[in-house]
Amino acid sequence: KPYEIDMLDKYADDGSQGVIITTLEKVYNWGRSNSLWPLSYATACCGIEMISSSCPQHDIARFGSEVFRASPRQADLMILAGTITKKMMPQVVTLWEQIAEPKYAIAMGNCVITGGIFKYSPSVVANVPDYIPIDVFIPGCAPRPEALFNGIITLQHQIRRQKMLKRKEYLGKQPKRLKDGS
Ligand code: SF4
Repeated sequence: KPYEIDMLDKYADDGSQGVIITTLEKVYNWGRSNSLWPLSYATACCGIEMISSSCPQHDIARFGSEVFRASPRQADLMILAGTITKKMMPQVVTLWEQIAEPKYAIAMGNCVITGGIFKYSPSVVANVPDYIPIDVFIPGCAPRPEALFNGIITLQHQIRRQKMLKRKEYLGKQPKRLKDGS
């Protein structure tokens, strides 16, 4: 099935035992994956589709991500939506660093992934993933809200498979430039 319900529901559906058996890790990941709060932030036209995803026609609330936060201190998901210029990149990295762990990043649109149609512009950053560790890539110009939802569901699946005790190893794979601060 396209949207896999986690182990908690599987045991609850069974009902034969009258008990739910799970692990702390599964409960932790289940909670995190169903309450991804994105930062209210966009840098160009892909942002319009991101905004549209929160409107009633598309209803991002179905995925637990309707609470867009204006402060990075209250967010745990950065959706990089739109062209990022060299002038803007330091602010994007600062916002990313201000989000508390565990945090996740989605690259929405060709401009963020490769520079898109502005790839050869001297003012555009064409290698954003070298600065921000991207969990999910959503290609397109611009990706529609349905594509963003597919990306969020993919991220939810990734989070449900994560090991709490291996988070440190995962963070060790972050882009070198970000860790060095260069
Ligand atoms: Fe705009 Fe297309 Fe770039 Fe998105 S990928 S920011 S829609 S030019």
